[in-house]
Amino acid sequence: EQDPLPPELEIRSSAPERKAFSVKVERPLDVQEGRLGLPVVGEEQKIMEAIYNNPTVVIWGATGSGKTTQVPQFLYEAGFGSPESLNPGMIGVTQPRRVAAVSMAKRVGDELGGVGERVSYQIRFDSSVSSKTAIKFMTDGILIREIANDFALLKYSVIIIDEAHERSANTDILIGMVSRIVDLRATMSREDEKIKPLKLVIMSATLRITDFLENPNLFRNGTPPLIQAEGRQYPVTTHFVRRTRRDYTEEAFEKVCKGHRKLPPGGMLVFLTGQNEITALAKRLNETLANFQSQSNGHKVRISASEAPLETEDLELGNIAPGFDDFEDDAESDGDSSSRGDDRDFDVEDSTPASSTVHILPLYSQLQTKDQLRVFEPPPENSRLIVLATNVAETSLTIPGIRYVFDCGRAKEKKYDRMTGVQNFDVGWISKASASQRAGRAGRTGPGHCYRLYSSAVYERDFEEYAEPEILRMPVEGVVLQLKSMDLQHVVNFPFPTPPDRQSLAKAEKLLIYLGAVSNEGKITSVGREISNYPLSPRFSKMLMIGHQHGCMPYTIALVASLASLDLFIPKNQLDLSVNVQSEVYTNEDRSADEARSQLKSHYNHAHHLFSRHSPTSDALKGLTALCAYAYAPLREAFCKDMFLSPKALSEASNLCSQLMSIVRSNNPTLLAPNVSLKLPSPSKTQVAALQQFTAAAFIDQIAILASASVSPPDLPRNPTRAIDVPYLPLFPINVKRRADIDMIDIAVFVHPSSVLAHLATKDLPTYIIYSHLQRGTPATIEGAKKPRTRMHALTAVTAMQIAGLAKGT
Ligand code: ADP
Ligand code: MG
Repeated sequence: EQDPLPPELEIRSSAPERKAFSVKVERPLDVQEGRLGLPVVGEEQKIMEAIYNNPTVVIWGATGSGKTTQVPQFLYEAGFGSPESLNPGMIGVTQPRRVAAVSMAKRVGDELGGVGERVSYQIRFDSSVSSKTAIKFMTDGILIREIANDFALLKYSVIIIDEAHERSANTDILIGMVSRIVDLRATMSREDEKIKPLKLVIMSATLRITDFLENPNLFRNGTPPLIQAEGRQYPVTTHFVRRTRRDYTEEAFEKVCKGHRKLPPGGMLVFLTGQNEITALAKRLNETLANFQSQSNGHKVRISASEAPLETEDLELGNIAPGFDDFEDDAESDGDSSSRGDDRDFDVEDSTPASSTVHILPLYSQLQTKDQLRVFEPPPENSRLIVLATNVAETSLTIPGIRYVFDCGRAKEKKYDRMTGVQNFDVGWISKASASQRAGRAGRTGPGHCYRLYSSAVYERDFEEYAEPEILRMPVEGVVLQLKSMDLQHVVNFPFPTPPDRQSLAKAEKLLIYLGAVSNEGKITSVGREISNYPLSPRFSKMLMIGHQHGCMPYTIALVASLASLDLFIPKNQLDLSVNVQSEVYTNEDRSADEARSQLKSHYNHAHHLFSRHSPTSDALKGLTALCAYAYAPLREAFCKDMFLSPKALSEASNLCSQLMSIVRSNNPTLLAPNVSLKLPSPSKTQVAALQQFTAAAFIDQIAILASASVSPPDLPRNPTRAIDVPYLPLFPINVKRRADIDMIDIAVFVHPSSVLAHLATKDLPTYIIYSHLQRGTPATIEGAKKPRTRMHALTAVTAMQIAGLAKGT
């Protein structure tokens, strides 16, 4: 009884004072009304009691139930964030996406009426925070940076971590970090009464978070209470297509056109995977549907087949069938829907004719903020709102008036292969949880429909329940550096909601030491701080940091893009296929297919020779050359076809270059002239050597040494005749994750047949090479070899001098 009361109890006993500090808010009338319908508002008292009585609280409620807009207001009204109250610190709200941070700050500001200026946002390169700010929306990356400077987060009284179900790496890191800061602040507040405890509120749209709530390492004071805000969701009928088409943008185009003609008024939300798809589809829809509008006064019109790839009878407008036929045959009701979709009448629920005009808006993260906010404005009268969005619209933003959702079932995700070390953005299936969130977007204002552009068989077979947490899908060195940037030294003890494995954490720390980002004592260095400013894997950040030497900056950028891309070049074993594709060019009646093939091969070799002539022993530089040549090409498609390049990979790599250029400029404008593009002259000899050195610096732990030049283990091919059979030994052992893998992997690694080095005579092979990633091979064809071979990709020959230079830190 002598012990001081725990701070939570103290606060509870001061309930009357709390009232005295409550802040008056005058909300606009329409906002007042709108709030009444929100499930979260119904739970205000329960939520606030829980927050007063517990250090950490979890709120779970469907998207649109009012978590993001309302919970910060409850806290504000209760005095959090007001200088004269018990809890003067700001209310900090983190979002995984910038769009959400900006638009939610604006919305909450509007809702608060007269005191709207007390709500601000902060994202990278942009902030509206002032001394008046009481509620601050920010991206999770911003809060991580703040922790580096203010470990106890003394500026804040509450941290709300929103969208926790998404399990972004930053969110996971913040949950672990802030749970510790809550403990720290409790201790500090017992010792110094001027310091107030910190509250943590975790908000989630799904129960994806319950798997770590009972983790005693994470929440030492017991499992936090879980408060559910009962969702007010109208039934959504889900329709699958019978056959899943690979070309989902085409499918989306057709379905949306048809839907616009046949469905009663109501907004449409189309989920796609990225900016390019969205802008292309927006253009096509605008052209096609505008055409449709202008001539739709009851006449039969045909749109020429070349403009619209729909069957022409579909476009006979006088002949609109009552059924949205090919959708309804396999209408299925899934978990989202409380009513069985009636097979026959779901499309025409009332006799109102379909809207005649369309109002098409894109929504993706790279879009300018003011354009993003347009989705919240009411569409022009009598027109149908069609929003084409990435998964930004899945849970972060609730777009008003959506009745129809078209879900392509895919998303662009950061993928990472631990074994090969390859990280890239790839389009893949979403999870069942995401699919259900997307469908739910149709049921906010009334009963809705979700048209899934994939079959129920694919959904059952290929969709995971939940997506894997991002932290398991990224290079661990990035995670470790992030933690170090918050001055955390012993990363293995960190309370991750889902921990990466310890061995990889330790290995990552070593790499960071090699890169100079972390000291031998495990502390982040100034180099490390700079590296952590780049939103890239630390290896590539390091290259960009040192890559301005010898006037190499734009080349280094292209080099990083080339290393980060997998398949710029079409592999030779796909050449036979190309013979057919290019038959017009390469075959005619006189010539046999064989002849054509050999001609094609020589063209292929010639093209590859052109790309590697500046640096015949580096795949990375060959990719750089291809990227720069592509920048010069007036007709990019044709250029790719002629030069056996993958148009998709090159366009993505060029986009990456533009992004890297803006990142480098924003970090240090003097490093890159404003008008620089990839139209560059050939690099000089000095520059080529420098670029090799930058590569070596970034992949310093991925050096392989010619086996004959070192001790050759038994079991390796003796006197091979082909370069691809010559064993190399990695200087640092390969990261073997599971026991079972050990038998699978040879300790030696081999040059991949697609590498420039594969064409060298064995005697000309370099002694030292840098590889950017490994590929576990299919069983070797060579006699006597039992194990599959591990092959090295994206190779760059380096000299002993260059390696010695690295050791000296130059
Ligand atoms: P949650 O975070 O639980 O998903 P929100 O707090 O984002 O829910 O949204 C609550 C309600 O506020 C929704 O019905 C949504 O339509 C509405 N809303 C949110 N932002 C805006 C806005 N900018 N304009 C109009 N309505 C909005
Ligand atoms: Mg929200």
